[in-house]
Amino acid sequence: MKWLRFCQSGEVGWGVAQPDGVVKICSGSPFEAGHHVTAERLPLEGLDLLPPSKPGKIVGVGRNYAEHAKELGNPPPQEPLLFLKPPSAVLAPLGAIQLPPLSQQVEHEGELAAVIGRRCRGFRAGEDPRPYLFGFTCLNDVTARDLQRSDGQWTRAKGFDTFCPFGPYIEDFSRGWPGPEPAPPEWDAARPWHGLRLETRVNDQLRQQGNTADWLFPLDRLLAAISAVMTLEPGDLIATGTPAGVGKLAAGDRVTVTIAGIGQLENRVEAGH
Ligand code: ZN
Repeated sequence: MKWLRFCQSGEVGWGVAQPDGVVKICSGSPFEAGHHVTAERLPLEGLDLLPPSKPGKIVGVGRNYAEHAKELGNPPPQEPLLFLKPPSAVLAPLGAIQLPPLSQQVEHEGELAAVIGRRCRGFRAGEDPRPYLFGFTCLNDVTARDLQRSDGQWTRAKGFDTFCPFGPYIEDFSRGWPGPEPAPPEWDAARPWHGLRLETRVNDQLRQQGNTADWLFPLDRLLAAISAVMTLEPGDLIATGTPAGVGKLAAGDRVTVTIAGIGQLENRVEAGH
């Protein structure tokens, strides 16, 4: 099911997007017990979509695709390379990425994000991640590449306001392969995040193309590495890394991250001040 969050007349609501363009309204947050899908319906068209979770933290994974590590001149890491993006960087689907005057080189990084559904600490590699996951969404790990190079650590590069658009939905794979395209050959219901094709376009020009089957570290290794350090809470995001093809964004651009079965995240780019 494709979960979404929206704002209508000042009220925040939750719903489930249907293939026919209708949204079934949910009685409360799907991250909390006791919610149910009601008989109420709204058209998806024109709905003011919010980011589909409220993460307390966003954990990024650096260089999880060998080709991307190589394009920036880095060796593949021996252990998952982790960083944080602040929740203040979150941006809604269709929101505007603001180019900060402090950077001359802001780049897109299209990624699959895992959304945590249950508190997770001390996870062990080899365990099944599914009990801890709410679902998966599209995320753009917007990065000021010049500051990433000059600072040596990544807080400024990854942390500007609007540098973490994600959504529009969280797909939970509770009903198997969601379609509408056929399931990819590598797809496996026991690890539905595997074998997903991922594409990033700027103004409809294909910039990044990858497949989550190419990760250097599988999801159980990522969860183990992260939860050895910090407790993951419902709504938290894990941005699982970006494939090769990162590139610069300019004011006026329209950037989309498309992941098979999950959806398409679209944002425009504006000069910030
Ligand atoms: Zn990234």
